[in-house]
Amino acid sequence: MFGLIGHLTSLEHAQAVAHKLGYPEYGNQGLDFWCSAPPQIIDDITVKSITGQTIQGKYVESCFLPEMLSQKRIKTAIRKILNAMACAQKNNIEITALGGFSSIIFENFNLKQNKQVRGVELDFSHFTTGNTHTAYIICRQVEAASQAIGIDLAQATVAVCGATGDIGSGVCRWLDRKTNVQELLLIARNQERLQNLQNELGRGKILSLEEALPLADIVVWVASMPRGIDIGEIPLKNPCLLIDGGYPKNLDTKIQQPGVHILKGGIVEHSLDIDWKIMEIVEMDSPDRQLFACFAEGMLLEFEKWHTNFSWGRNQITVEKMEKIGAVSIKHGFKPYLLKTGN
Ligand code: NDP
Repeated sequence: MFGLIGHLTSLEHAQAVAHKLGYPEYGNQGLDFWCSAPPQIIDDITVKSITGQTIQGKYVESCFLPEMLSQKRIKTAIRKILNAMACAQKNNIEITALGGFSSIIFENFNLKQNKQVRGVELDFSHFTTGNTHTAYIICRQVEAASQAIGIDLAQATVAVCGATGDIGSGVCRWLDRKTNVQELLLIARNQERLQNLQNELGRGKILSLEEALPLADIVVWVASMPRGIDIGEIPLKNPCLLIDGGYPKNLDTKIQQPGVHILKGGIVEHSLDIDWKIMEIVEMDSPDRQLFACFAEGMLLEFEKWHTNFSWGRNQITVEKMEKIGAVSIKHGFKPYLLKTGN
């Protein structure tokens, strides 16, 4: 049995979903109500692999909302993630993926020190961030989508926004070692971490967002920002491929420049329909088959019976692990989501 811990993108989104699911008493409530709501298992999932194997899973809604990342509510945010993990463990789920901000909160607030949650001693070996598969899928999206729109990687400058993050650093390692990309631009705020990454890679220019974006043929957006950022005023190249790997994904509503191709990053398409309801709620174009790559990692670990925290800690994603999860992703029928013709 696999588990997926997820959350909605904003209070407004949570209220709309509650109304849609027929819970007006939740839909009319403000943030205080959502702060006190316990985690809920709201979906039972069946996934079939193209090998013929079938697995079962559960979706745990943590009732965390990005608004809880404000200073005043941070303890609530932490409690939400730990309670959702305890809920998964109490339900005997063998491997659970931490979606969206769950893994970021876990790492940033060092929650591995908080093993004891409401009578449950958390066993972290049964959880994965799903970030190795996400980084792998984003890299495959870079390779395939650039080719589709006529950008030659050997001549291309790729800007990675969030380069020092868990996913961003994995993406940089892959682009450096597995592709012939001409130039890497590294963007983040903490200069020491940027310097360490540059030293590790032995390449890459450290630039600000405003300096880097106008130079980039490809932008990989993997910064963790609860409310996103408006980059609509920064001039981009024509053509430019922009891979929006953050959560929530909101760059497409903000950029209206000619020749900019925006692709939802870190999204996979399964070859077979998945029996679940949850992806309709997060407004995937094809909810029976599309999902976040981190959730798919939970499924892959269950298919392979690798009940282990495959992706864990920060900046540990190696090219070898990306290749390993990539091989089983292909084996079970997952493909990177790509630009539709005419996009
Ligand atoms: P991390 O917290 O490990 O890394 C975040 C990165 O963003 C860091 O490099 C950080 O560096 C940078 N960053 C944060 N704020 C800014 C800013 N204002 N300007 C520039 N850089 C910034 O996050 P992850 O790698 O775990 O996740 C990255 C994103 O991917 C998140 O949005 C997450 O929700 C999403 N995600 C998507 C998944 C999917 O399946 N599609 C799965 C998992 C995550 P610094 O602090 O120094 O600025």
